[in-house]
Amino acid sequence: MDTTTHASPPAPGGPLSLHGLSVDGVNQCVHCGLCLAYCPTFSELGTEMDSPRGRIFMIKSLAEGRMTLSDSTVRHLSLCLDCRACETVCPAGVPYGRLIEAAKAEIERDRPGALGRRLFRWLNFGLLLGHPRLLGLAASGARLYQASGLQRLVRKSGLVRLLPGTLPAWEALLPPVPAKSERTGPPPVTPAEGPRRARVAVLTGCVQSVIFAAHNRATARVLAKNGGEVIVPDGQGCCGALNAHGGDHARALAMARRTIDAFEVARVDAVVVNTSGCGAHMKAYGHLLADDRAYAERARRFAATVRDLAEFLAQEPLRGPLVPVPLTCTYHDPCHVAHGQKIKSEPRRLLAQIPGLRVVELTESDWCCGSAGIYNLTEPEMATRLLHRKVGHVLATGAEAVVTANPGCILQIQAGLGAHESGVRVMHLVEILDRAYGGPGGAR
Ligand code: SF4
Ligand code: SF4
Repeated sequence: MDTTTHASPPAPGGPLSLHGLSVDGVNQCVHCGLCLAYCPTFSELGTEMDSPRGRIFMIKSLAEGRMTLSDSTVRHLSLCLDCRACETVCPAGVPYGRLIEAAKAEIERDRPGALGRRLFRWLNFGLLLGHPRLLGLAASGARLYQASGLQRLVRKSGLVRLLPGTLPAWEALLPPVPAKSERTGPPPVTPAEGPRRARVAVLTGCVQSVIFAAHNRATARVLAKNGGEVIVPDGQGCCGALNAHGGDHARALAMARRTIDAFEVARVDAVVVNTSGCGAHMKAYGHLLADDRAYAERARRFAATVRDLAEFLAQEPLRGPLVPVPLTCTYHDPCHVAHGQKIKSEPRRLLAQIPGLRVVELTESDWCCGSAGIYNLTEPEMATRLLHRKVGHVLATGAEAVVTANPGCILQIQAGLGAHESGVRVMHLVEILDRAYGGPGGAR
């Protein structure tokens, strides 16, 4: 049975919003349909309501009070990946990412779900992502589960299928958790090698800091090789991107404020980010905190300093000497680098400078792999369809490695390639760069 709700009817001619979150950008849509061919869910399902134009129509109708938040509306909006491929091609400049985040927050407000679901979201979005120490403890628990052989037993016995809700999907995607000794971040300060180019701070992140701490250490090394004096600000945690994409708006705001507090004291020229969703989200802090008197100006200033790792490095030629990396690779564009930050040529320009490395282009390189924050956990069926499509294109290249720049994409594509027993590696861009500087990639 459909339960219904909608935001308060707007004042005639006034700006459109869903419970205070602006969706006024819906009025920019001229219904041309140019975005449809670039939308992964429209491509898979072929239905207007699973296209950007259809979703914009629903969001506008909700904000105007002409449509109710029915089960079917929730379904079509929830299936959106928030990949923002539609934003890239839209000639009218519709800020689609903001619209869908407001819509997802509206869904969570109206449909928080049963107690179990609410507890699970609080555990993840509130407790773990909000408290790095607790996240570390959870990582140690997951490590024990894997290293003790319990995971193998649970999977082999089929017990995993008895878990409720989306837990089987979470279990299936649980990556190998490194030992605690491998989960250390870069030192608080790494001096620049050669002439100093800039003082930069790095975001070590939440999931990134426990699963891919090695990438953070490699990031500091590569930045230092390129003249960066690298600072790791104390007191940083999750930037709030996962919360924002998951409709958890209030906590996303709190995390943004905490991130700004932590980084401001470092007084750096740039804040460098090696995870795509975090970089795109932090660049939007100015918009996110625009109504916060204490933070609006600080958020705008902070956002202007945020740089994706490739964006920062590609401003100048890589400093040598570089050693050959004899490998054929292909590059997968994470959505929130390609569409969220409009960065496409920079990673390719960096790869082209590495001796011995052969780069082959990937068909649909900027199509979502299905990871999309926690989408592969909440919408496993569509995520799997998109993953199969991505893996098919990767295997067709004949590459030995896929290079990308986001932990979610790495885990998702690794899972897909693993199912094919293909032997193709998935690497972060910084691993390749680190290797070219004689380092072990992310493995140290
Ligand atoms: S964000 Fe991605 S999935 Fe959502 S409507 Fe746009 S192109 Fe489609
Ligand atoms: S391309 Fe832009 S203006 Fe055209 S339908 Fe899509 S969102 Fe609307």
